[in-house]
Amino acid sequence: MGVQSASTLPTHEQNGLRILVNVEFKHNGVLEPPSCVYASHLCTVMLRFVLNSTSDGLSLKLKSLMNQSLMAINMSLPHGVYEDVVSAIGHTPLIRLNKVTADLSGSEVWAKLERCSPGGSIKDRIGLAMILEAEEKGWLKPGGTIVEGTSGNTGIGLAMVAAQRGYKCVFTMPDKMAKEKIDLLRAMGARVEICPTAVEKEDPRSYYMVAERLSKEIEGAWYPDQYSNQSNPKAHILSTGPELWQQTQGDITHFVATMGTGGTITGCGKYLKSQAEEHGIDAPRVVGVDAEGSILKQWFEEGTMGVPHGYKVEGFGEDFIPPATDFSVIDEIRMVDDEICFRMARRLAKQEGLFCGGSCGGALQIALDIAAEHDKVGEKAKIVVVLPDAGNPYLGKVYNDDWLRDNGFDVDGWEW
Ligand code: PMP
Repeated sequence: MGVQSASTLPTHEQNGLRILVNVEFKHNGVLEPPSCVYASHLCTVMLRFVLNSTSDGLSLKLKSLMNQSLMAINMSLPHGVYEDVVSAIGHTPLIRLNKVTADLSGSEVWAKLERCSPGGSIKDRIGLAMILEAEEKGWLKPGGTIVEGTSGNTGIGLAMVAAQRGYKCVFTMPDKMAKEKIDLLRAMGARVEICPTAVEKEDPRSYYMVAERLSKEIEGAWYPDQYSNQSNPKAHILSTGPELWQQTQGDITHFVATMGTGGTITGCGKYLKSQAEEHGIDAPRVVGVDAEGSILKQWFEEGTMGVPHGYKVEGFGEDFIPPATDFSVIDEIRMVDDEICFRMARRLAKQEGLFCGGSCGGALQIALDIAAEHDKVGEKAKIVVVLPDAGNPYLGKVYNDDWLRDNGFDVDGWEW
């Protein structure tokens, strides 16, 4: 494109977030080293983010350079074509739900379908963001080993990026997680250590502590720790949030997301609220969804630590307070139990054709509750709900009647 190698390296301070943009141009179809694996995706988003931000600190020359970079990236590949799998992370559709909402008169529910990311979940986004930061800061060296505790999806996101970029992976998982997730991680070349679920986080046998120990024992290991890693919420400030803003043009009354590490709700909530403020429109109400047995809702409402107890639904709820969560972004937290999650996930598959995990069912139930409450008082709500993953890993659980019966659920009485 007439430019052999040009880099823009602006740094911009925005709401305490430091953004470093490094764009490599292609020459004769080859990315100049070091190739920016997600030039077609994250850099676009980052450049737009910086340009859309209050950009008093940016010189005109810098702005024009960044606009040129954006145009070059956009022109470099046709829509939906990527240099590699990592560049295809995110870009997920926002889908209007039409059947489960049939009883509503005015309110709408729209689902962000994260199963469409190449690794099958929203966690692809943070896998990429955490690895890129670790490379930049020198925490992860070529050929190094990523050691992480995961409920499965973050492991899959990390393993996908690791396979593509030549890292080894060791994951620790609680023993309640679906076998399919473990098999998938092993299929992608990871070593998986299964740890007891029913122990406290500080117990040396817990999947958190085993991951921490292994990261010290293994040479060249790096421990992302998604629960405290600030690249987790940032990944959503830089990708999920801007995608949602673009897909809705800011027309959202409520944003609903389940809370595990809290990265999704923190990053998306921050981005959507900051954009609304900048555009002078009402900010969406940010509603978190917690699992019955978790301590997050009580912590948010009362500032006290409850006593956690076991539950079956996977991926959200915690027995400690994850530093990745910024509770100040959240307006309200609602609670769902296993049965609500499983029943609604099955209904979503049968009525809307969206085959998703149990946490998606829980989030959707809350979105529908909010919609119904607004309908009742004659208000029109437009609710965006995040559906974090696919149903495939749960075929032996949420979608298996025998497993449900064995675990005490009266599936025969379920309408869906
Ligand atoms: N649902 C599923 C299936 C997940 O894997 C996760 C991530 N653990 C979540 C919900 C919660 O997302 P977050 O960690 O960003 O709060």
